[in-house]
Amino acid sequence: MAGLAERQLNPADSFWTWRELMYRFAGRIDPEAQYDIAAQLYVEMLEAGYTSVCEFHYLHHQPDGRPYADPAAMSRAIIAAARDTGIRLTLLPVLYMSGGFDGRALSERQRRFGHSVDAYLSLLSTLRAEQHESLRVGIALHSLRAVPADALAEVLSAIGDAVMPIHIHIAEQTAEVDDCIAVRGARPVEWLLANAPVDARWTLVHATHLSDSEMRGIAASKAVVALCPTTEANLGDGLFPLREFLALGGRIGIGSDSNVSVSPVEELRWLEYGQRLITRQRNVGSSAAQPSAGQNLFELAIAGGLQSCQQEGAARDHLVLDADAPALAGVTPETLHDRFVFAGNRPLLRSVSVAGRVVVENGRHAQAEAIARRYRGRLQALLTDS
Ligand SMILES: [Zn+2]
Repeated sequence: MAGLAERQLNPADSFWTWRELMYRFAGRIDPEAQYDIAAQLYVEMLEAGYTSVCEFHYLHHQPDGRPYADPAAMSRAIIAAARDTGIRLTLLPVLYMSGGFDGRALSERQRRFGHSVDAYLSLLSTLRAEQHESLRVGIALHSLRAVPADALAEVLSAIGDAVMPIHIHIAEQTAEVDDCIAVRGARPVEWLLANAPVDARWTLVHATHLSDSEMRGIAASKAVVALCPTTEANLGDGLFPLREFLALGGRIGIGSDSNVSVSPVEELRWLEYGQRLITRQRNVGSSAAQPSAGQNLFELAIAGGLQSCQQEGAARDHLVLDADAPALAGVTPETLHDRFVFAGNRPLLRSVSVAGRVVVENGRHAQAEAIARRYRGRLQALLTDS
């Protein structure tokens, strides 16, 4: 639905009106469509230089909310798409139980997302039994508004000290912060830090709206904050306090999230540009030890991404740049990352290898055409039969 939610429908268009359109679209996706869409996305991600993807996956059931005959059918479509395209996958099935902080039931459009704690833990153990070198399975607690406090405690006690990625959307929207204060008497991150054992296994997605003490708490916990600058801009979320968080030693990764853009270059560029626009300064993402903003942000995002995905092998994946690209003319080791992040709009990648296998050559994924053909047919059908 990238590009389909940019027309004003009412003067108060916001994240919440975007979400209604997203729900209508998601309602039509079955496992075959899920496979075709994921495969197209993974080809685009690999061609852009992402070698791992964390799927915050919450489309589990049939449109009427009943589980498929295989309750993991939608997850398996994603696993197959990752295997067939060659990207590392960290699959994070989402626990989504209620429609708001008041504990209200899921709406009709949300029924495909819902699990009881028991059904969720059973899906998780099924999928975790199938992990391999480039497939990791962890958990995604959708958000504090969608996971009641007792369910959150139950899931965390069930997994105990097990090493697995634990992701949660948090403090993305000011309305969410206000609701959390009204119902739980604390800001979202403040509540989470007080009620969950947040540590290096955790990734807080967005964490846009933070108080100073919340920022210090996240940095001290060693959790990663997953920043998704193009989506956060597209949805009108707000700007993350990057400079203050980095000064505290905070850990960050980047994500494509809604996939309006599939480019680590654009995420890093807009991460820096958002900060420049609000501080009216330049090179906000640099540090005393690393004066290059591009290199500093790139290296922070790689380290945070490795921690967040728990894909240790990804540290040995390779991106090979095109030495003939005009934007790299005269490049030196000192300017390489800044050229990559800030110069021009043409892709600078020549090849990408994942787990020792070359998946992108001369800028193209080997199956790019066949996968795009299936995707176009699938999207045409999804957009016309409503
Ligand atoms: Zn998000």
